[in-house]
Amino acid sequence: MSLELLAPAGDLEKLKVGVMYGADAVYLGGENFGLRARAGNFTLEEIKEGVEFAHLRNAKVYVVLNSFLFDNEIQKLPEFVTYLEQMGVDAVIVSDMGVFQTVKSSCNIDIHVSTQASCLNESTVSLWKSLGAKRVILGREVSITEAKKIRQNCGIEVEMFSHGSLCMAYSGHCVISNYTGGRDSNRGGCAHSCRFEYSLDFKNNQKQSKKSFFMSSKDLNGIELVDQFEDASIDSLKIEGRMKTALYLATVVKSYRAAIDSLKTAEGPAPSPQELDHELRSFSHRDYTAGGLSGEFGSESVYDREHGLCGDYMIIGSIKNASAQSGLVLEVRNGLKLGDKIEIMTFKGKNIEIELDQMFDFADVPIESINPNQLLKIPYIEEVNTHNIVRKMGRLS
Ligand code: SF4
Repeated sequence: MSLELLAPAGDLEKLKVGVMYGADAVYLGGENFGLRARAGNFTLEEIKEGVEFAHLRNAKVYVVLNSFLFDNEIQKLPEFVTYLEQMGVDAVIVSDMGVFQTVKSSCNIDIHVSTQASCLNESTVSLWKSLGAKRVILGREVSITEAKKIRQNCGIEVEMFSHGSLCMAYSGHCVISNYTGGRDSNRGGCAHSCRFEYSLDFKNNQKQSKKSFFMSSKDLNGIELVDQFEDASIDSLKIEGRMKTALYLATVVKSYRAAIDSLKTAEGPAPSPQELDHELRSFSHRDYTAGGLSGEFGSESVYDREHGLCGDYMIIGSIKNASAQSGLVLEVRNGLKLGDKIEIMTFKGKNIEIELDQMFDFADVPIESINPNQLLKIPYIEEVNTHNIVRKMGRLS
């Protein structure tokens, strides 16, 4: 059994980026029933294309159905999951027992129990197994040591979060966003209210604490624990972040792929933990914590600041086409000019750094600069492929 690397697919393009950078599986949301109302949720046609793209490259596709639903919404579910099964979706991710029951009685698709269901102990996991779940995604409060026992004693696939944003509340139980922003966290509307600045008001003794960000958590980073996940026989490592950028996705998936591969192959020099850690700090991020993975987590996991730390790199765009005949076509997200140094992130191994000494527009006319949201052509480089992400040292002004 090998450790699965599971990446977020915020849209079809990100699905392809995740798979090409080495994800064994991706998870995505359809237009209904998921928890990211503002993500670029997939249409049925996009799910079909995503499944075909992933399966051709031996990657799996899971669809999130982890919202808590009312009866009028559940009625529409059998038709949707039947489509998913016909398209070859590998599993659905569910938290609501009514949704679980409806999926079970409508089709034979595998069901993974979402972290929203807060599975923290063997009794809960055994119950889900007895109901027919294929896998449980443990709550982020569970340590690797506890997960190892659950895996051994319950005999069901276990998935754990290894990277990305953390909630200050048990997943599936937070209503801060409902009360402060009128947006329901458990039905896809989380406004990230825990990241806001608050003060505590002690009415009885008239004290008021200074304002701070005391409910905002640091981000989870378990890359240095990959060998422990493997030793504990954890089945799948999950990266959070369907709303995050393609630069985040490419960097995190490539880093975890290298860390997992270094456990099982002596082929070539593996990147050092320091190199991987440096990569995971190369984009905007909050401070990192291992969260509950190594045991209980407390005040050291609070990120008492408003903004994330800037990384050294910003995204420039992605390679849309790479051919010896027509060169490299780059979809530009941030402007470029002649003389700029860019870095093309290969799917594996060292990135390619180049200085732009020739730039062409789409009619092959030489140009000296290009604005965002346009296509740029540059000379062909053999090691570069479609879906490579391109970055540049510097920060957005
Ligand atoms: S408000 Fe914060 S703690 Fe609550 S669900 Fe959203 S991210 Fe999680």
